[in-house]
Amino acid sequence: MISDKKILVTKSSMPDYEEYIEAIRPLWDSHWLTNMGEYHNQLENRLCEYLDVPQISLVVNGHMALELAIQAFDFPKGSEIITTPFTFISTTHAIARNDLIPVFCDIDSNTGNIDFNQIESLITDKTVAILPVHVYGNVCNIEAIDAIAKKHNLKVIYDAAHAFGIKYNNRGIGNYGDATIFSFHATKVFNTIEGGAVVFANPQMHEKLYNLKNFGIRGEEEVAEIGANAKMNEFCAIMGLCNLNHIDQVLATRREKWDYYRKLILAIPGISMLSYDDNQTMNYSYFTIVLDNNQVPDRDSLYDYLKDNNIYSRKYFYPLTSDYDCYHKEARNSKLPVAKELSSSVLVLPFYEEIEYAQIDNIVALIADYLS
Ligand SMILES: *Cc1c(COP(=O)(O)O)cnc(C)c1O
Repeated sequence: MISDKKILVTKSSMPDYEEYIEAIRPLWDSHWLTNMGEYHNQLENRLCEYLDVPQISLVVNGHMALELAIQAFDFPKGSEIITTPFTFISTTHAIARNDLIPVFCDIDSNTGNIDFNQIESLITDKTVAILPVHVYGNVCNIEAIDAIAKKHNLKVIYDAAHAFGIKYNNRGIGNYGDATIFSFHATKVFNTIEGGAVVFANPQMHEKLYNLKNFGIRGEEEVAEIGANAKMNEFCAIMGLCNLNHIDQVLATRREKWDYYRKLILAIPGISMLSYDDNQTMNYSYFTIVLDNNQVPDRDSLYDYLKDNNIYSRKYFYPLTSDYDCYHKEARNSKLPVAKELSSSVLVLPFYEEIEYAQIDNIVALIADYLS
């Protein structure tokens, strides 16, 4: 059945209109709209609690969280960072925009995450850090990555843009590595419209990040650093506070729908899903299917077919970031067969809190029909 309205891959979570309007009303009294305001600080406190981290710094978006977190380590220009190509382009750009070199490591086909077994062979005397992504909220092999980093004296910076609220071994995901960044973009499982945050293992790094996100200003006549401007404003912080009021309900609903969807989709021959670590919780942020690559019709034609039926899936993550023109030079010696294969066989299907069971049924039926 052709859906009568467009079903997009995601739909942003929002609080009730009245809740948000009521929450922003005080701004008309205070006229304090940005610059580490009351709601910005409230959100930092509530996120520390929710994410189970000792300290967090809010920033304007996830990309700047990553770019400034990397900058905060003051790595020498031209240093190398080992990372995954199976990610959103932001991850790779954040490295390159710091005048550092992304060194692409292949991935594990079961999880989509960086293949820790291949990291050591990529280490050179220029390597300063490892930057893995918990892709789709799949937690990386933290112990193995940590051991490699310790042995070679490297920093670990996790891109946890997909991993909001996830716990690993009963601790918030932000407690691992030297730094972890989150994205609160409108399309993520928790949003502040645009927003992001950084957690550092070393609390002193938060001072450094504060400088980098606020022009380096430490006082009316004191500038400590050549900083940028990446502050979160009060309207965004309040959206975050409102969304945080409902996050447990949102995740519970996602979980129910996810389990339902998963059962139906796995009954279709030739379709599988990635696996998760037993020691992690999930946030059900992306509903990613993997098509058997020998299958006809292939991923691209399924994508087109769904689109013709008003269902807008996404080929996350295709192309690999290493395949974009701007990274040809860095990628020329990379061997990424698993990443290439997964990238050409994944499809992220529409999934969000408000998706209706009937819509899930419809999407699954269309896929089953098309592939049979
Ligand atoms: C969304 C995302 C980012 C960037 O976050 P923004 O808030 O959109 O700037 C970085 N890395 C990954 C893996 C992402 O999915």
